Parts: sequence; C-alpha cells; structure tokens
Amino acid sequence: MAPHIPEKQWAQVIEKTGGPVEYKQIPVQKPGPDEVLVNIKYSGVCHTDLHAVNGDWPIPTKLPLVGGHEGAGVVVARGELVKDVEIGDHAGVKWLNGSCLSCDFCQTGDEPLCGKALLSGYTVDGTFQEYCIAKAAHVARIPKDVPLDAVAPILCAGITVYKGLKESGARPGQTVAVVGAGGGLGSIAIQYAKAMGLQVIGIDTGDEKAQMCKKLGAYTFVDFAKSSNVVKDVQGATEDGLGPHAVILVAVNEKPFQQAAEYVRPRGTVIAIGLPAGAYLRAPVFETVLGVKTIKGSYVGNRKDTSEALDFYRRGLINAPFKTIGMSELQKVYDMMHEGKIAGRYVVDTSK
Ligand code: NAD
Ligand code: ZN
Repeated sequence: MAPHIPEKQWAQVIEKTGGPVEYKQIPVQKPGPDEVLVNIKYSGVCHTDLHAVNGDWPIPTKLPLVGGHEGAGVVVARGELVKDVEIGDHAGVKWLNGSCLSCDFCQTGDEPLCGKALLSGYTVDGTFQEYCIAKAAHVARIPKDVPLDAVAPILCAGITVYKGLKESGARPGQTVAVVGAGGGLGSIAIQYAKAMGLQVIGIDTGDEKAQMCKKLGAYTFVDFAKSSNVVKDVQGATEDGLGPHAVILVAVNEKPFQQAAEYVRPRGTVIAIGLPAGAYLRAPVFETVLGVKTIKGSYVGNRKDTSEALDFYRRGLINAPFKTIGMSELQKVYDMMHEGKIAGRYVVDTSK
C-alpha cells in the first residue's frame, strides 16, 4: 500500500537572512521525474545551517528557505524515471541534493564541483521539514539496520571529515591534528581518524570538549584558549616535536587557519574544511617552501565517499555523541552553536 502523504507539514523556515527561523506549516512538495520524496525522521544540525541563516558566505541562499542537510528518513514517493530507489527504502538527504552527472567534474567523481549542483538547505529546501525532495541519484542509501537518528550526522559531518582525511594522504600510524575537535565535524573526525589507524591530537576549548575528545580516541588535547603558544604546544604533542603529518581544520574561527601551516610537519598537509565568514588562510612562505608543505581545501564528498563513510558507520566504527531535540526547538540549537557551547552534534526530531 502506498504511504499516506499529507498536503501540509511542519517546517523551520528562514524568511529573511539573519533569521530567526520560524516553525510553521508549509505545503508538501511533489517529486519531479528524477526525484524522490523522503519522510525525514531526523536531521543533524550543522554549523553550515547557521552560516546560511546569517548570510556568512559570498553565495546567496534561496529565500524563504528551509535549512538542513543531514536528513535521514524513509522514501515515500518517487518520480517515474526513478528505478533504483524503492518506496520504503531508508535514505539520506545530504548537502549535495543533486548535480548534472554529465559535466567534467561529475564524470570524474568531483560532483561537489558541478556548476549546476543543488545544495540542500541553501539553494533548495532542506531537511528541517517532515518531507524533503532530493535527486534520486544523490540520496544516500542507508542500510535498514542502522538507526536513523545516530546516522543523520554522518550525512554531512561524516562524509566531509572522511573525505578530508583521505585528501590529507595521512597513513596509518601517522598523526593528525583535528582543529575544532569538540564540535560536530571534529568529534566525528576523531572517530574516522582512529578507524583509519591515525593518532589524533584534538584542539578546541573547555573541559567538556577535552574529556569528550579523549573519550572518542584523541591521545591528547590542546586547549587553544588556555595555551600561550598553540604552535609550540601542538608540535610538542608529537613524539619527535616536529608536528602532526596532517591538520584537519574544522574550526569556525579564522585564527587556526593562520596557524596550521606553521605547526604541520615538514612534508605535511593542511586540509581546510571549516568556513568562517570572510576568513583567509595564512602561511609563512619560507617555512612552507623549505618544509614542502601542502595546503588544500576539501568540500563534502562524492557518492562513493558517501557510501564508504556510511559503511564505516554500519560496521560500528563510528560512535560520536549526539543529543536529540524537537525540530520546533531549532533556534535554541542555533543559539548554543553560536556560543560554541555544543560538544558533538544536535539532531532534530521532525515529529516534535
Ligand atoms: P561546530 O560549531 O559544531 O564546531 C566548531 C568547533 O570549532 C567548536 O567546537 C568551537 O569551539 C571550535 N573552535 C572555535 N574556534 C576555534 C579555534 N580557534 N581553535 C580550535 N577550535 C575552535 O561546527 P561544525 O558543524 O562542526 O562545522 C564546522 C565548520 O565546517 C563550519 O564552518 C561549517 O560550515 C564547515 N563545514 C564545511 C564543510 C565542507 O565541505 N568543507 C562541510 C560541513 C561543514
Ligand atoms: Zn554540513
């Protein structure tokens, strides 16, 4: 029997840049020929959603906008061209809602670089609603034995940090510094790094985040607010004092983007993932050249990265903490996030 799909649903809507979000009823959309309609059960709240509310970035969002891009749920309808996703399948709506699948970038597995990419919760409505549309080719295939609340943060945070770690080229046994380790991406990065055989230095601030990072597998923690010299302390945290082989920057402030190239080890790689408003990277030319250091950006992941990241999760290797709250309370999550008070990730329950 086909699932019942209501005409109206609850959603969190941004009417104007700067917010606040408004919890209200809006119509349920119908999927196009190559799209599916997913009944979102849970959605993670990523700092990107807050950047979108605040208009932090140079590309404008759609308005009014339903944010959210870590949505896990059940497929309830599909367009007539969709053959490989069934009604009742568990699926994830992620940041990359769709791409053209035929440009140079899409053909070579760089779908996030597609000029026609659709971005969930940014250029198209996202997952802070009960029913969300996505291109069938791009929805994440979620195995049925995986809980939909816990898997939600994997759909952006997990994919992104897993891809970033791969891009860093760090090999098992080597050391990686995760900067912003106490946040959503950072806490999950610690777990992927550990599962990939890496040794982790966590960098963030506060006792709660320090304890969480160590519990998740970081062998040491540098508190950037307490340290009088972060560069020295990070290098000092490695056995030979030469610094970590890779740095994963998932912080939401500019400062660490200006320090990482200094403390990364010669031949090491700095991966920039966090997107603080108006920020610039900085590196000393002399030490970067003579140290043969690499600085790279990394942006979500492709469909293959998605299935690999989900497989790590399915095998029980990723157990990052999350707290669940009703979707009606999303603004509270944004307020805590703005103050840097969230250790790990919040997940909203769309039914409350
Ligand atoms: P979050 O708010 O959960 O975590 C950010 C963490 O950074 C916090 O714990 C905060 O204390 C920490 N921090 C702040 N200043 C710091 C400093 N000086 N040194 C070390 N840590 C510091 O945010 P999140 O959801 O994990 O997202 C992090 C960033 O990643 C955001 O800018 C988001 O937009 C971006 N992002 C990028 C991609 C991508 O594909 N490149 C994907 C997802 C998210
Ligand atoms: Zn995100």
